[in-house]
Amino acid sequence: MTAGQDPAITRLRAHEMAAGLREGRFTALALLEAHLELIRDENRVLHAWSSVDEDGARQAAVAADRQLSKEGGRAIQGPAALPPLLGIPVALKDLVVTRGQPSTAGSRILKGFLSPYDAHIAERLREAGAVVVGKTNMDEFAMGSSTEHSAWGPTANPWALDRVPGGSSGGSAAAVAAFHVPLAIGTDTGGSIRQPAALTGTVGMKPTYGRVSRYGIIAFASSLDQVGPFGRDVRDAAMLLGVVAGRDEHDSTSAPMQVPDYAAELPADDDEAAASVKGLRLGLPREYFVPGMEPGVEARIREAVGALEAAGAEIVELSLPHSEYGLATYYIIAPAEASANLARYDGIRYGQSVRGEDVLGNYLATRGSGFGAEVKRRVMLGTYALSAGYYDAYYLKAQKVRTLLKRDFDLAFKQVDALIAPTSPTVAFPLGARLADPVAMYLSDVCTLPVNMAGLPGISVPCGLSEGLPVGLQFIGRAWDESRLFGLGRAYEAITASAEWRSLEPTDLPALSDPSAPAPAERLAAARA
Ligand code: GLN
Repeated sequence: MTAGQDPAITRLRAHEMAAGLREGRFTALALLEAHLELIRDENRVLHAWSSVDEDGARQAAVAADRQLSKEGGRAIQGPAALPPLLGIPVALKDLVVTRGQPSTAGSRILKGFLSPYDAHIAERLREAGAVVVGKTNMDEFAMGSSTEHSAWGPTANPWALDRVPGGSSGGSAAAVAAFHVPLAIGTDTGGSIRQPAALTGTVGMKPTYGRVSRYGIIAFASSLDQVGPFGRDVRDAAMLLGVVAGRDEHDSTSAPMQVPDYAAELPADDDEAAASVKGLRLGLPREYFVPGMEPGVEARIREAVGALEAAGAEIVELSLPHSEYGLATYYIIAPAEASANLARYDGIRYGQSVRGEDVLGNYLATRGSGFGAEVKRRVMLGTYALSAGYYDAYYLKAQKVRTLLKRDFDLAFKQVDALIAPTSPTVAFPLGARLADPVAMYLSDVCTLPVNMAGLPGISVPCGLSEGLPVGLQFIGRAWDESRLFGLGRAYEAITASAEWRSLEPTDLPALSDPSAPAPAERLAAARA
């Protein structure tokens, strides 16, 4: 098969692609070419990708085909199984380094930087047979909720091209939603996987802090950052997390915990999946229905809660009383850690280097021209919060409040098996709408960032549309309880399997290949004019 013969294969879920490859229905190379063709035709208008490694991806696909033809027909599971992602195209957020390839973290300061090594998760993906297609657009250093803070211009939402896909992992979310890849990696420091998943109608999980190695992940805020999967269904996201999770001796914060076979644990049968919620206690935190939440979003969440209750879950209304301090403490801790992590971009060690009069001049010129406005804002906030005389008042205080936030969750999990909440208070917002108001942008993550502060896992799954745009339902779990969250997500999929919205593709997909359609940067410029 050659390029373009079968665009329908891009519509399959990753686990269906894996089965198709094993059954010899198509080759890994054909699967890759079908995806590359969409990317070539549509990336100008979607702008989900910051770099595509066509040659590297083809080599991986050819190698996968060799292995498939040699050992084809073997079962997906079992001791003699082929690697789980053999031949499956995967995207990496542009902060996952891979040898000899660009990783810019959405920043001008990393323009031209080629990594001398592979991130741990890139190695794990290669061992699992994945075909890494390229890197996806993101907010600079993962600071943002819209992907508009990328130095390379924004990404569009395939559901409405004049709207953001969320962020900071907006490129990964948009690429999965637009069928450019079935799977993508993101990172989530305060919501950057779950919020874009919600806004693009995809599944995204932030695992427990320590579940996935950050070796080779360009750091934002080290006590909060976690790597996680995007997929078009829960099983796919579970499959991807299973591949990348686990202890890595290069990252001392990665936990030596057993990693379950998340995907294999999920019931294949819808009835069984739906029945799995019977008797579960799900906590509904009052504080997550925040002021300013869109009525359409609240309605979808309440309907989802009702559907889970009807399927036999017990819904327990409860309070996480310190939630209101989540945003304020996050915006002390995350910038403080970012200001320390970003000190390494000095014009000597990485990427861009601009000459000044002397060493300090080089540093100021490199950073002054290399960092965008949001990154500078965070470095200033963080440096201030950590400075002598203010450390106790801000950073130390924030750490204490962080303990209280965590305690809220600990108490809740004495009563319930998981929490259920909105992922984002609104649907995808128009390009430019929150750029002039940082606090409005920060509020995008009000329902997700307490989860990072407590180090817990959270998943966002699609739960219908409001005004034609996707709404995300969030499940939050105990530490290391990702299996429960995948199970709940899968159950919710089963319960709503026949809902009409499940069969809808993103509304604006046809416009992605329209040669007269503007690029997202042009749309943003028009919105701001
Ligand atoms: N929007 C939040 C921020 O800007 C979270 C970003 C993230 O999770 N990386 O910090």
